[in-house]
Amino acid sequence: MKVGVLALQGGFRPHVEALSALGADVFEVRLPRDLAAADALVLPGGESTTVGRLLGTSDLLQPLRERLAGGLGVLGTCAGLILLASEVLDGRADQPVLGAVDLTVRRNAHGRQNESFEAPLEITGLSGGPFPGVFIRAPGIERVGQGVEVLARLSSGEPVAARQGAVTVCAFHPELAGDLRFHQHFLSSL
Ligand code: GLN
Repeated sequence: MKVGVLALQGGFRPHVEALSALGADVFEVRLPRDLAAADALVLPGGESTTVGRLLGTSDLLQPLRERLAGGLGVLGTCAGLILLASEVLDGRADQPVLGAVDLTVRRNAHGRQNESFEAPLEITGLSGGPFPGVFIRAPGIERVGQGVEVLARLSSGEPVAARQGAVTVCAFHPELAGDLRFHQHFLSSL
C-alpha cells in the first residue's frame, strides 16, 4: 500500500513523518504520475484556495476527481477537508470543490491564526483517551449530509471529524498532535 501526500503547498511534511513513523510506504505527490502511483492519499492543511489553484496548474485536478470517484482512500485535514467538501462557504468563487464528502464547511470559521486553539477530542474508533485536537484557522462544519458519519465533536457539539466511504476528514491537524493514533486509524481503514 503506497500512501501519497499531496505536496503542493502547506503542512505536508509532518504527515509524511507521521506516516513514515508508522511504517507506511509514503511519498510526496506533485505530478499526475505520482497520483497514479498512490493507493491512498493525504490532502494536508495549508491554504485551500492556493492548493486548489496549484491542483489545476499541476494537471492534478481532473485525475484527482477521477480517483475520488473510483473510491480512493483519502485523509483530508483542515484545508484538505475544505477541498474535499461538497459545499464551501466564504471560499473563493474559483476554488475547486471536489465533493467527495457531503459536508458544508465554512473557511476560517474559528477566526484568524492567533485564535488557534487546542481541544481534547473523543474520536470514534480511537482508544486510549482523548486526542489532542490542534485547530489552526480551522474550517467549521455547518452541515452534515446523510451517509456521513461524524467521528468527533467539540464540546459545543460542532462536528470536527467525519467519514464517508473511503474519505476521512478533520478540521484539526492530527499531524501536529504528537500522537499517531489518527494516522494509524486511517492506515488501518485502507
Ligand atoms: N484557512 C485555511 C483555508 O482556508 C485552512 C487552514 C489550515 O489548513 N490550517 O484553506
